[in-house]
Amino acid sequence: MQPFSYQRSGDARAAVRAATRAGAAPPTEAPIQFIAGGTNMTDYMKLGVARPEVLIDINELGRQDYGRIELEEGGLRLGALVRMAEAQEHPKILADYPVVAQTLALAASQQIRNMASLGGNVLQRTRCEYFRGTAFPCNKRNPGSGCAALQGINREHAVLGTSEACIATYHGDFAQALIALDATVETLGPGGRRQFRFSDLHRLPGETPNIETNLEPGELITFIRVPAGPHTRRSHYVKIRDRESYQFAVASAAVALDLDGDTVRDARIALGGLATVPWRAREAEAALRGKALDEEAALAAAEIAFAPAKPREHNAFKVAAGKQTLVRALLETRAMQI
Ligand SMILES: Cc1cc2nc3c(=O)[nH]c(=O)nc-3n(C[C@H](O)[C@H](O)[C@H](O)COP(=O)(O)OP(=O)(O)OC[C@H]3O[C@@H](n4cnc5c(N)ncnc54)[C@H](O)[C@@H]3O)c2cc1C
Ligand code: SF4
Repeated sequence: MQPFSYQRSGDARAAVRAATRAGAAPPTEAPIQFIAGGTNMTDYMKLGVARPEVLIDINELGRQDYGRIELEEGGLRLGALVRMAEAQEHPKILADYPVVAQTLALAASQQIRNMASLGGNVLQRTRCEYFRGTAFPCNKRNPGSGCAALQGINREHAVLGTSEACIATYHGDFAQALIALDATVETLGPGGRRQFRFSDLHRLPGETPNIETNLEPGELITFIRVPAGPHTRRSHYVKIRDRESYQFAVASAAVALDLDGDTVRDARIALGGLATVPWRAREAEAALRGKALDEEAALAAAEIAFAPAKPREHNAFKVAAGKQTLVRALLETRAMQI
Protein backbone atom coordinates (compact mmCIF):
# COMPACT_ATOMS: atom_id res chain seq x y z
CA MET A 1 0.00 0.00 0.00
CA GLN A 2 1.38 3.42 -0.86
CA PRO A 3 1.74 5.92 2.03
CA PHE A 4 -1.19 8.26 2.50
CA SER A 5 -2.31 10.90 4.96
CA TYR A 6 -5.60 10.79 6.80
CA GLN A 7 -8.01 13.57 7.81
CA ARG A 8 -11.41 13.57 9.45
CA SER A 9 -14.21 15.92 8.56
CA GLY A 10 -17.51 16.50 10.32
CA ASP A 11 -18.37 19.39 8.02
CA ALA A 12 -19.69 18.42 4.59
CA ARG A 13 -18.77 21.70 2.90
CA ALA A 14 -15.24 21.61 4.30
CA ALA A 15 -14.86 17.98 3.13
CA VAL A 16 -15.95 18.92 -0.38
CA ARG A 17 -13.62 21.95 -0.42
CA ALA A 18 -10.71 19.79 0.69
CA ALA A 19 -11.42 17.06 -1.89
CA THR A 20 -11.92 19.59 -4.68
CA ARG A 21 -8.34 20.74 -4.26
CA ALA A 22 -7.41 17.45 -5.95
CA GLY A 23 -8.04 18.97 -9.39
CA ALA A 24 -9.97 17.63 -12.35
CA ALA A 25 -9.30 13.86 -12.14
CA PRO A 26 -12.33 11.51 -11.89
CA PRO A 27 -13.08 10.81 -8.19
CA THR A 28 -11.59 7.29 -8.26
CA GLU A 29 -8.28 8.57 -9.69
CA ALA A 30 -7.99 11.76 -7.62
CA PRO A 31 -5.13 12.17 -5.11
CA ILE A 32 -7.69 13.15 -2.44
CA GLN A 33 -10.60 10.75 -1.87
CA PHE A 34 -13.37 10.15 0.65
CA ILE A 35 -13.56 7.12 2.90
CA ALA A 36 -16.73 6.03 4.73
CA GLY A 37 -16.98 2.43 6.00
CA GLY A 38 -13.71 1.72 4.20
CA THR A 39 -14.71 -1.85 3.28
CA ASN A 40 -14.17 -1.19 -0.41
CA MET A 41 -11.57 1.57 -0.29
CA THR A 42 -9.07 -0.18 2.00
CA ASP A 43 -9.42 -3.42 0.03
CA TYR A 44 -8.45 -1.65 -3.19
CA MET A 45 -5.72 0.39 -1.50
CA LYS A 46 -4.11 -2.80 -0.22
CA LEU A 47 -4.23 -4.23 -3.74
CA GLY A 48 -2.58 -1.08 -5.12
CA VAL A 49 -5.61 -0.32 -7.30
CA ALA A 50 -6.79 2.73 -5.35
CA ARG A 51 -3.85 5.06 -4.69
CA PRO A 52 -5.10 8.17 -2.87
CA GLU A 53 -2.47 10.40 -1.29
CA VAL A 54 -5.01 11.83 1.15
CA LEU A 55 -8.07 10.14 2.62
CA ILE A 56 -10.87 12.27 4.04
CA ASP A 57 -12.84 10.26 6.58
CA ILE A 58 -16.48 11.42 6.39
CA ASN A 59 -17.91 9.15 9.10
CA GLU A 60 -18.49 12.05 11.51
CA LEU A 61 -21.14 13.30 9.09
CA GLY A 62 -23.13 10.26 10.18
CA ARG A 63 -24.00 12.07 13.43
CA GLN A 64 -25.95 14.62 11.39
CA ASP A 65 -28.84 14.18 8.93
CA TYR A 66 -26.47 12.28 6.64
CA GLY A 67 -26.67 9.36 9.07
CA ARG A 68 -30.46 9.24 9.35
CA ILE A 69 -33.34 7.42 7.72
CA GLU A 70 -36.28 9.78 7.27
CA LEU A 71 -39.76 8.72 6.26
CA GLU A 72 -41.30 11.46 4.23
CA GLU A 73 -44.77 11.72 2.77
CA GLY A 74 -43.47 11.07 -0.73
CA GLY A 75 -41.01 8.31 0.19
CA LEU A 76 -37.76 7.53 1.97
CA ARG A 77 -34.76 9.74 2.51
CA LEU A 78 -31.61 7.78 3.28
CA GLY A 79 -28.52 9.59 4.51
CA ALA A 80 -25.38 8.52 2.66
CA LEU A 81 -23.72 7.61 5.99
CA VAL A 82 -26.51 5.26 7.12
CA ARG A 83 -25.01 1.80 7.61
CA MET A 84 -26.30 -1.01 5.42
CA ALA A 85 -27.30 -3.04 8.50
CA GLU A 86 -29.42 -0.22 9.89
CA ALA A 87 -31.41 0.25 6.69
CA GLN A 88 -31.82 -3.49 6.20
CA GLU A 89 -33.47 -3.83 9.62
CA HIS A 90 -35.63 -0.70 9.57
CA PRO A 91 -39.27 -1.81 10.16
CA LYS A 92 -40.76 0.66 7.70
CA ILE A 93 -38.31 -0.29 4.96
CA LEU A 94 -38.97 -3.98 5.61
CA ALA A 95 -42.73 -3.44 5.35
CA ASP A 96 -43.05 -0.83 2.62
CA TYR A 97 -39.89 -1.16 0.52
CA PRO A 98 -39.03 -4.87 0.88
CA VAL A 99 -36.76 -4.91 -2.17
CA VAL A 100 -34.55 -2.27 -0.52
CA ALA A 101 -34.21 -4.33 2.67
CA GLN A 102 -33.61 -7.54 0.73
CA THR A 103 -30.87 -6.14 -1.51
CA LEU A 104 -29.04 -4.97 1.60
CA ALA A 105 -29.58 -8.13 3.65
CA LEU A 106 -28.35 -10.38 0.85
CA ALA A 107 -25.13 -8.40 0.34
CA ALA A 108 -21.73 -9.18 1.83
CA SER A 109 -21.63 -10.32 5.50
CA GLN A 110 -23.22 -8.94 8.67
CA GLN A 111 -19.83 -7.60 9.78
CA ILE A 112 -19.36 -5.71 6.52
CA ARG A 113 -22.93 -4.44 6.60
CA ASN A 114 -22.35 -3.08 10.10
CA MET A 115 -19.47 -0.96 8.78
CA ALA A 116 -20.45 -0.13 5.21
CA SER A 117 -22.39 3.01 4.33
CA LEU A 118 -25.11 3.37 1.71
CA GLY A 119 -23.14 6.04 -0.17
CA GLY A 120 -20.03 3.85 -0.26
CA ASN A 121 -22.11 0.86 -1.27
CA VAL A 122 -23.46 2.38 -4.46
CA LEU A 123 -19.92 3.49 -5.38
CA GLN A 124 -18.29 0.12 -4.80
CA ARG A 125 -15.90 -0.85 -7.56
CA THR A 126 -15.97 -3.93 -9.76
CA ARG A 127 -14.58 -7.27 -8.60
CA CYS A 128 -13.09 -8.02 -12.05
CA GLU A 129 -9.98 -10.04 -11.12
CA TYR A 130 -7.93 -8.36 -13.85
CA PHE A 131 -8.83 -4.98 -12.37
CA ARG A 132 -7.87 -6.18 -8.90
CA GLY A 133 -4.62 -7.78 -10.10
CA THR A 134 -2.31 -4.94 -11.05
CA ALA A 135 -0.10 -7.13 -13.29
CA PHE A 136 -2.81 -7.31 -15.98
CA PRO A 137 -3.74 -4.85 -18.71
CA CYS A 138 -6.94 -3.10 -17.68
CA ASN A 139 -8.52 -0.06 -19.32
CA LYS A 140 -10.38 0.81 -16.14
CA ARG A 141 -7.29 0.86 -13.92
CA ASN A 142 -4.79 1.95 -16.56
CA PRO A 143 -6.58 3.67 -19.49
CA GLY A 144 -5.42 2.53 -22.92
CA SER A 145 -3.64 -0.59 -21.64
CA GLY A 146 -6.24 -3.08 -22.96
CA CYS A 147 -8.69 -5.45 -21.34
CA ALA A 148 -7.35 -8.78 -20.10
CA ALA A 149 -10.86 -10.09 -19.52
CA LEU A 150 -11.84 -10.10 -23.20
CA GLN A 151 -9.58 -13.08 -23.93
CA GLY A 152 -9.21 -14.21 -20.32
CA ILE A 153 -11.48 -16.01 -17.87
CA ASN A 154 -14.67 -14.01 -18.17
CA ARG A 155 -17.18 -16.18 -16.32
CA GLU A 156 -17.96 -13.39 -13.83
CA HIS A 157 -18.23 -10.67 -16.43
CA ALA A 158 -21.16 -8.74 -17.80
CA VAL A 159 -23.37 -9.64 -20.74
CA LEU A 160 -25.29 -6.33 -20.84
CA GLY A 161 -23.94 -2.81 -21.34
CA THR A 162 -20.45 -3.95 -22.30
CA SER A 163 -18.01 -2.31 -24.71
CA GLU A 164 -14.86 -3.52 -26.44
CA ALA A 165 -12.91 -1.55 -23.83
CA CYS A 166 -14.46 -3.16 -20.70
CA ILE A 167 -16.86 -5.94 -19.76
CA ALA A 168 -16.60 -5.63 -15.97
CA THR A 169 -19.74 -6.33 -13.95
CA TYR A 170 -21.22 -3.83 -11.51
CA HIS A 171 -21.64 -6.15 -8.53
CA GLY A 172 -23.69 -4.16 -6.01
CA ASP A 173 -27.14 -5.34 -4.94
CA PHE A 174 -28.65 -2.24 -3.29
CA ALA A 175 -28.26 -0.25 -6.52
CA GLN A 176 -30.65 -2.66 -8.24
CA ALA A 177 -33.43 -1.74 -5.82
CA LEU A 178 -32.65 1.95 -6.28
CA ILE A 179 -32.73 1.86 -10.04
CA ALA A 180 -35.91 -0.22 -10.09
CA LEU A 181 -37.69 2.21 -7.75
CA ASP A 182 -36.57 5.36 -9.61
CA ALA A 183 -34.48 6.65 -6.72
CA THR A 184 -32.69 9.99 -6.88
CA VAL A 185 -29.31 11.03 -5.51
CA GLU A 186 -28.54 14.27 -3.72
CA THR A 187 -25.01 15.54 -3.71
CA LEU A 188 -22.92 18.40 -2.47
CA GLY A 189 -20.18 19.46 -4.83
CA PRO A 190 -17.97 22.44 -5.56
CA GLY A 191 -20.95 24.04 -7.35
CA GLY A 192 -23.35 23.45 -4.43
CA ARG A 193 -26.15 20.93 -4.00
CA ARG A 194 -27.74 19.02 -6.85
CA GLN A 195 -30.20 16.18 -7.28
CA PHE A 196 -30.36 13.73 -10.15
CA ARG A 197 -31.79 10.33 -11.05
CA PHE A 198 -29.95 7.35 -9.61
CA SER A 199 -29.93 5.93 -13.14
CA ASP A 200 -27.63 8.84 -14.10
CA LEU A 201 -25.06 8.10 -11.40
CA HIS A 202 -23.15 5.28 -13.11
CA ARG A 203 -21.71 5.48 -16.60
CA LEU A 204 -21.57 2.76 -19.22
CA PRO A 205 -17.92 1.85 -19.88
CA GLY A 206 -17.84 2.92 -23.55
CA GLU A 207 -14.32 4.05 -24.45
CA THR A 208 -13.59 5.41 -20.96
CA PRO A 209 -14.28 2.68 -18.38
CA ASN A 210 -11.99 4.48 -15.92
CA ILE A 211 -14.70 7.18 -15.52
CA GLU A 212 -17.23 5.17 -13.54
CA THR A 213 -19.77 7.79 -12.46
CA ASN A 214 -21.04 11.24 -13.37
CA LEU A 215 -19.85 12.66 -10.04
CA GLU A 216 -17.62 15.69 -10.32
CA PRO A 217 -14.24 15.76 -8.60
CA GLY A 218 -14.82 16.29 -4.87
CA GLU A 219 -18.59 15.73 -5.10
CA LEU A 220 -20.08 14.06 -2.04
CA ILE A 221 -23.22 11.91 -2.08
CA THR A 222 -25.35 13.25 0.77
CA PHE A 223 -28.76 11.53 0.45
CA ILE A 224 -30.61 8.94 -1.56
CA ARG A 225 -34.36 9.38 -2.01
CA VAL A 226 -36.72 6.54 -2.85
CA PRO A 227 -40.18 7.69 -3.93
CA ALA A 228 -43.19 5.76 -2.64
CA GLY A 229 -45.59 4.37 -5.22
CA PRO A 230 -48.28 1.74 -5.70
CA HIS A 231 -45.50 -0.71 -6.65
CA THR A 232 -43.13 -0.22 -3.69
CA ARG A 233 -44.81 -2.67 -1.27
CA ARG A 234 -45.00 -5.39 -3.90
CA SER A 235 -41.27 -5.42 -4.54
CA HIS A 236 -38.84 -8.28 -4.26
CA TYR A 237 -35.24 -9.34 -4.92
CA VAL A 238 -33.94 -12.69 -6.13
CA LYS A 239 -30.18 -13.21 -6.00
CA ILE A 240 -28.46 -16.28 -7.46
CA ARG A 241 -24.86 -16.88 -6.40
CA ASP A 242 -22.23 -19.60 -6.34
CA ARG A 243 -22.69 -20.06 -2.60
CA GLU A 244 -25.64 -18.98 -0.53
CA SER A 245 -23.99 -16.43 1.70
CA TYR A 246 -21.24 -13.82 1.61
CA GLN A 247 -21.07 -13.86 -2.16
CA PHE A 248 -21.75 -11.51 -5.05
CA ALA A 249 -24.55 -12.23 -7.53
CA VAL A 250 -24.07 -14.39 -10.57
CA ALA A 251 -27.48 -13.07 -11.59
CA SER A 252 -30.11 -11.11 -9.72
CA ALA A 253 -33.40 -9.37 -10.37
CA ALA A 254 -35.16 -6.61 -8.45
CA VAL A 255 -38.82 -6.39 -9.36
CA ALA A 256 -41.64 -4.05 -8.31
CA LEU A 257 -45.18 -4.52 -9.54
CA ASP A 258 -48.43 -2.62 -9.48
CA LEU A 259 -51.14 -5.18 -10.20
CA ASP A 260 -54.84 -5.06 -10.91
CA GLY A 261 -55.70 -8.65 -10.04
CA ASP A 262 -53.18 -10.58 -12.15
CA THR A 263 -52.91 -7.81 -14.73
CA VAL A 264 -49.82 -5.62 -14.69
CA ARG A 265 -50.55 -1.91 -14.35
CA ASP A 266 -46.86 -1.12 -13.96
CA ALA A 267 -43.67 -3.16 -13.71
CA ARG A 268 -40.13 -2.18 -12.69
CA ILE A 269 -37.25 -4.53 -13.40
CA ALA A 270 -33.55 -4.21 -12.58
CA LEU A 271 -30.92 -6.84 -13.30
CA GLY A 272 -27.78 -7.35 -11.19
CA GLY A 273 -24.57 -9.34 -11.67
CA LEU A 274 -25.18 -9.23 -15.40
CA ALA A 275 -24.42 -5.71 -16.55
CA THR A 276 -21.66 -3.13 -16.37
CA VAL A 277 -23.93 -0.71 -14.48
CA PRO A 278 -27.12 -1.07 -12.41
CA TRP A 279 -29.43 -2.17 -15.22
CA ARG A 280 -33.06 -1.31 -15.84
CA ALA A 281 -34.89 -3.59 -18.31
CA ARG A 282 -37.39 -1.04 -19.64
CA GLU A 283 -38.41 -2.91 -22.81
CA ALA A 284 -39.29 -5.96 -20.72
CA GLU A 285 -41.34 -3.74 -18.38
CA ALA A 286 -43.24 -2.27 -21.34
CA ALA A 287 -43.99 -5.76 -22.66
CA LEU A 288 -45.63 -6.70 -19.35
CA ARG A 289 -47.89 -3.65 -18.99
CA GLY A 290 -51.55 -4.49 -19.53
CA LYS A 291 -50.88 -8.24 -19.60
CA ALA A 292 -51.86 -10.99 -17.18
CA LEU A 293 -48.65 -11.96 -15.40
CA ASP A 294 -48.29 -15.71 -15.86
CA GLU A 295 -45.27 -17.86 -16.62
CA GLU A 296 -45.65 -17.33 -20.35
CA ALA A 297 -45.67 -13.53 -20.00
CA ALA A 298 -42.70 -13.67 -17.60
CA LEU A 299 -40.71 -15.84 -20.04
CA ALA A 300 -41.52 -13.46 -22.90
CA ALA A 301 -40.37 -10.48 -20.81
CA ALA A 302 -37.14 -12.31 -19.94
CA GLU A 303 -36.44 -12.95 -23.63
CA ILE A 304 -36.85 -9.24 -24.31
CA ALA A 305 -34.66 -8.26 -21.36
CA PHE A 306 -31.77 -10.37 -22.65
CA ALA A 307 -32.15 -9.64 -26.37
CA PRO A 308 -29.22 -7.16 -26.26
CA ALA A 309 -26.96 -9.57 -24.30
CA LYS A 310 -23.43 -10.11 -25.62
CA PRO A 311 -22.00 -13.20 -23.97
CA ARG A 312 -18.28 -14.02 -24.11
CA GLU A 313 -16.43 -17.32 -24.00
CA HIS A 314 -17.13 -18.31 -20.38
CA ASN A 315 -20.26 -16.38 -19.43
CA ALA A 316 -22.89 -17.50 -21.95
CA PHE A 317 -24.58 -19.37 -19.07
CA LYS A 318 -25.44 -15.98 -17.55
CA VAL A 319 -28.02 -15.34 -20.26
CA ALA A 320 -29.98 -18.47 -19.33
CA ALA A 321 -29.39 -17.90 -15.60
CA GLY A 322 -30.47 -14.27 -15.91
CA LYS A 323 -33.69 -15.18 -17.69
CA GLN A 324 -34.57 -17.82 -15.09
CA THR A 325 -33.78 -15.40 -12.28
CA LEU A 326 -36.04 -12.77 -13.76
CA VAL A 327 -38.92 -15.20 -14.36
CA ARG A 328 -38.64 -16.39 -10.77
CA ALA A 329 -38.53 -12.84 -9.43
CA LEU A 330 -41.59 -11.81 -11.45
CA LEU A 331 -43.65 -14.81 -10.33
CA GLU A 332 -42.59 -14.50 -6.69
CA THR A 333 -43.41 -10.80 -6.70
CA ARG A 334 -46.84 -11.53 -8.15
CA ALA A 335 -47.45 -14.10 -5.40
CA MET A 336 -46.61 -11.72 -2.53
CA GLN A 337 -49.43 -11.33 -0.02
CA ILE A 338 -49.83 -7.57 0.42
C1 LIG B 1 -15.86 -9.89 0.91
C2 LIG B 1 -16.85 -8.87 0.46
C3 LIG B 1 -18.08 -9.29 -0.03
C4 LIG B 1 -19.01 -8.35 -0.48
N1 LIG B 1 -20.21 -8.78 -0.97
C5 LIG B 1 -21.09 -7.86 -1.45
C6 LIG B 1 -22.33 -8.27 -2.01
O1 LIG B 1 -22.66 -9.45 -2.06
N2 LIG B 1 -23.16 -7.30 -2.47
C7 LIG B 1 -22.85 -5.97 -2.41
O2 LIG B 1 -23.65 -5.14 -2.84
N3 LIG B 1 -21.68 -5.57 -1.90
C8 LIG B 1 -20.80 -6.48 -1.43
N4 LIG B 1 -19.61 -6.06 -0.93
C9 LIG B 1 -19.24 -4.65 -1.07
C10 LIG B 1 -19.61 -3.85 0.15
O3 LIG B 1 -21.01 -3.80 0.26
C11 LIG B 1 -18.98 -2.48 -0.05
O4 LIG B 1 -17.60 -2.64 0.17
C12 LIG B 1 -19.52 -1.43 0.89
O5 LIG B 1 -20.90 -1.28 0.75
C13 LIG B 1 -18.83 -0.09 0.63
O6 LIG B 1 -19.28 0.84 1.58
P1 LIG B 1 -18.21 1.64 2.47
O7 LIG B 1 -18.95 2.63 3.27
O8 LIG B 1 -17.33 0.70 3.21
O9 LIG B 1 -17.40 2.38 1.30
P2 LIG B 1 -15.89 2.89 1.28
O10 LIG B 1 -14.99 1.74 1.11
O11 LIG B 1 -15.64 3.81 2.40
O12 LIG B 1 -15.94 3.76 -0.06
C14 LIG B 1 -16.22 3.17 -1.32
C15 LIG B 1 -16.07 4.24 -2.39
O13 LIG B 1 -17.08 5.23 -2.25
C16 LIG B 1 -16.54 6.52 -2.06
N5 LIG B 1 -17.45 7.16 -1.11
C17 LIG B 1 -17.89 6.64 0.07
N6 LIG B 1 -18.87 7.40 0.57
C18 LIG B 1 -19.05 8.44 -0.30
C19 LIG B 1 -19.95 9.55 -0.34
N7 LIG B 1 -20.86 9.77 0.60
N8 LIG B 1 -19.86 10.40 -1.39
C20 LIG B 1 -18.94 10.22 -2.38
N9 LIG B 1 -18.07 9.18 -2.38
C21 LIG B 1 -18.14 8.30 -1.35
C22 LIG B 1 -15.12 6.31 -1.57
O14 LIG B 1 -14.28 7.37 -1.93
C23 LIG B 1 -14.77 5.02 -2.31
O15 LIG B 1 -14.39 5.32 -3.65
C24 LIG B 1 -18.69 -6.97 -0.43
C25 LIG B 1 -17.46 -6.55 0.08
C26 LIG B 1 -16.54 -7.48 0.51
C27 LIG B 1 -15.24 -6.99 1.04
S1 SF4 C 1 -13.24 -5.98 -17.87
FE1 SF4 C 1 -12.85 -3.82 -17.41
S2 SF4 C 1 -12.08 -3.90 -15.31
FE2 SF4 C 1 -11.85 -5.97 -16.16
S3 SF4 C 1 -9.81 -6.06 -17.16
FE3 SF4 C 1 -11.24 -5.42 -18.71
S4 SF4 C 1 -11.10 -3.18 -18.63
FE4 SF4 C 1 -10.30 -3.92 -16.71
